[in-house]
Amino acid sequence: MKIARFEIGGRIAHGILEDEDRLRVLAGSPFETLEVTEEEYALGEVRLLAPVAAPRVFGVGLNYVSHAKESGQKPPEIPMLFMKPTTAVIGPGEPIVYPREGQNVHFEGELAAVIGRTVRRVREAEALDCVLGYTCADDVSERVIQHREMGMGCLLIGKAFDSFCPLGPVIETGLDPTDLDLEARVNGEVRQSINTSDLLFSVAKLVSYLSVAITLLPGDVIITGTPHGVGPITPGDEVEIEISGIGVLRNGVIAET
Ligand code: MG
Repeated sequence: MKIARFEIGGRIAHGILEDEDRLRVLAGSPFETLEVTEEEYALGEVRLLAPVAAPRVFGVGLNYVSHAKESGQKPPEIPMLFMKPTTAVIGPGEPIVYPREGQNVHFEGELAAVIGRTVRRVREAEALDCVLGYTCADDVSERVIQHREMGMGCLLIGKAFDSFCPLGPVIETGLDPTDLDLEARVNGEVRQSINTSDLLFSVAKLVSYLSVAITLLPGDVIITGTPHGVGPITPGDEVEIEISGIGVLRNGVIAET
């Protein structure tokens, strides 16, 4: 099932995507009900939004061995976690804004898991039951600032500029997160191609690990790390993140004015 969040005529609603191009409106938030109403729209009539409103976003660094290698770093022994602020989140088609302070801004294609219910201290074996579904993410990163921060043992601003967390286009509920093909393209050219079976810490492990300390809430998003092939983007570029079974998240890049 594909769940979309969208805007039409100034109103924001959730819907289930039917037949690839019809959105059947949900009776409420997908974290409360998946009951549909009679109301429906053509996909072309609405503006798709980030599939979750103002989520807490937990990020994971170096979660593919291949990306750790290209970054010249050893794979971590425990998940290397950081957060992205809600103001970084944008939806499909919204522009990534290249900040004035940007010197070396990179795209990072990632699988994102969306938490479906409140949970604390969930075991790995039950962790996926707490996940509503999956979407595509771009963990946009300013490398110069990121590396200066990481040199001090912290990480925030390099990952946190407004628009640095595109999410979408929909949440797909019926997926096995251990076997998804992920591809990232810049201006149509394939830059990253991986299967999520290569993740160092699986989605189940990440959910379980985070939930030891933090009560996870409906709508929380965990972006699970990027594989090798990251690289710079500049204003005028178009970034596409595609994951099998979910769809394509497409965002252009513009300069901050
Ligand atoms: Mg990342």
